[in-house]
Amino acid sequence: ARAQAMEVDASPEVTYDDIGGIDDQVREVREAVEAPLVDADQFREVGIQPPSGVLLHGPPGTGKTMLAKAVANETDATFIKMAGSELVRKFIGEGARLVRDLFKLAAEREPAVIFIDEIDAVAAKRTDSKTSGDAEVQRTMMQLLSEMDGFDDRGEIRIIAATNRFDMLDDAILRPGRFDRLIEVPKPGPEGRERILEIHTADMSVADDVDFADLALELDDYSGADIAALTTEAGMFAIRDERTTVRREDFENAREKVETDTEGPVFNDG
Ligand code: ATP
Repeated sequence: ARAQAMEVDASPEVTYDDIGGIDDQVREVREAVEAPLVDADQFREVGIQPPSGVLLHGPPGTGKTMLAKAVANETDATFIKMAGSELVRKFIGEGARLVRDLFKLAAEREPAVIFIDEIDAVAAKRTDSKTSGDAEVQRTMMQLLSEMDGFDDRGEIRIIAATNRFDMLDDAILRPGRFDRLIEVPKPGPEGRERILEIHTADMSVADDVDFADLALELDDYSGADIAALTTEAGMFAIRDERTTVRREDFENAREKVETDTEGPVFNDG
C-alpha cells in the first residue's frame, strides 16, 4: 500500500533552470528548504529553528510540484510525494498510518523532501457536519501536525505542501512551527510566459517566423502547464504536415485547438 500511495524518487531530474517565470518563488523556496538541508549546523549555531514547512499555493499547473522536485534534486535529497487525496480515501485509521509511514520513510532516506500535494484534502477548515468521514480526516491532519511538531530531532527532512485552495485551509496548519512559510505561485505574466515557451521548445526546431515575445503576449491566463501543452500540440501540427520544423502557423493552430477543446486555456482546473 505504501508504494501505491507514495511516489519516491531518489533523484528527480527537474532543475531550477527548467522553471520559468517564478524566479522570486524559486529563491524563497531555496532559502527555506535548501539552506537547512545543506547546512543544518548553521541554524544550530545561530540558535534558530529553520522554517518547518513550506506551503506553496496558487492555481493548478504553475510549477509547484516542479519547485519541490527541483529543490530535492539540487540538494541531493530523496523526493517523496503523497497526494492529500490519497490520505483521505482510506479505511478508518489508514490515513494516520500513511502519514506515519511517510515520515518514517523520509527518516530512512534522509536527506529527504516530503511533498504533500492537495494538502486541502486533509487540512480543510472544519465544517459543521460531524460525519464520521470528517472525523477521520481530522485524525489524519492531527497525525500530520504531530509528526511536524516532532521535527526538531528529525534531521534532514524538509516538508513542502501545495494547494490550489488556500482559502479553504484550517488555520491550525498555518501556525508557527507548522506550514509557516507561505509562498504564492501565480500564473506567469508575459515575460514569464516567454521564458516558459523557451524552456519547453528548447529541444524543438522552431522556424524563424516564430516570435516568442509576441506569442507570449497572446497567451493571457495560460499557466505553465497550459504552455507546455501548447508547445506539444504545435509540434503535433508540424508532424501532421510532415515537417520537422515548427512554424508560427502551428502555434496558431495549437492555440485554437487547446482553447476550443477546453473553452479556455485552463485544462486542469478542479
Ligand atoms: P497542480 O496544482 O495541478 O498539481 P503544479 O503547480 O504542481 O500543478 P506542476 O506539476 O509543477 O504544476 O506543472 C505541470 C507541468 O507544467 C510541468 O511538468 C511543466 O511541464 C509545466 N510547467 C508548469 N509551470 C511551469 C513553469 N513555471 N515553468 C516551466 N514549466 C512549467
